[in-house]
Amino acid sequence: MSQLQRIAIAPSQLQQGQIALTKEQQHYLTRVLRLREGDRFIAMDGKGKWWLTQLAGEQGQVLEPLIVETELPVAVTLLIALPKGNGFDEVVRCCTELGVTNIVPVLSDRTLLQPSPQKLERWQRIAAEAAEQSERAFVPTILEPVAFSSSLKLTSSHKYICEARGNFPHLMSKVEGLTNDKEIIIATGPEGGWTQQEVDNAIASGFQAVSLGRRILRAVTAPVVALSLVSAACEV
Ligand code: SAH
Repeated sequence: MSQLQRIAIAPSQLQQGQIALTKEQQHYLTRVLRLREGDRFIAMDGKGKWWLTQLAGEQGQVLEPLIVETELPVAVTLLIALPKGNGFDEVVRCCTELGVTNIVPVLSDRTLLQPSPQKLERWQRIAAEAAEQSERAFVPTILEPVAFSSSLKLTSSHKYICEARGNFPHLMSKVEGLTNDKEIIIATGPEGGWTQQEVDNAIASGFQAVSLGRRILRAVTAPVVALSLVSAACEV
């Protein structure tokens, strides 16, 4: 089960054990994930129900419902400003172990280096390996790097931007008590930090500025700490 990719479906797509896949889902499964006829994937309805599913033409044939035990009770999307060098490899590995759902590498004002397409494949491979070793039910999605300004459009009622300086509430106090099927988005900045403009734009887009504690963490440490706090707050 560990290396299966997953897609979100609308509950209405499932009827009598068959999932009517949309054109976009078919494209994603066969072109992006390169699944072939008969390959398996996980279909999720976004309401806590998961099914082991087999690709059958334009349909998904449900094989069995899945009982998910190794996933966080909340879906966490991390927007991570790309650090210099190969630092992101370790971030992907650790965050996968900790239960991240989606990782969005972001290009911020202070990190303009556009990574090569090979990097994305490498991160996806690292995520798949880490998901397997952590016995997770699915592999997190690593999206294509995007400009921070575009990633601000992602919607969720729980969006946080981690800011190293300033008197902001602790992330822990915000996520404590969040329950099943909540989606959380957390942004962490690059070595040089976010610019004031980026923080202001994020706040204007519905993000809340939060602290991860009193010490300044490195860009590669901050997402790992943020995710650890979420699991501590939501899983115990
Ligand atoms: N050079 C910057 C710090 C950058 S730390 C400065 O001196 O201000 C890299 C990123 O990690 C930050 O942009 C922030 O998103 C996150 N971060 C590090 N420590 C943090 C803390 N104590 N609270 C919240 N976010 C933190």
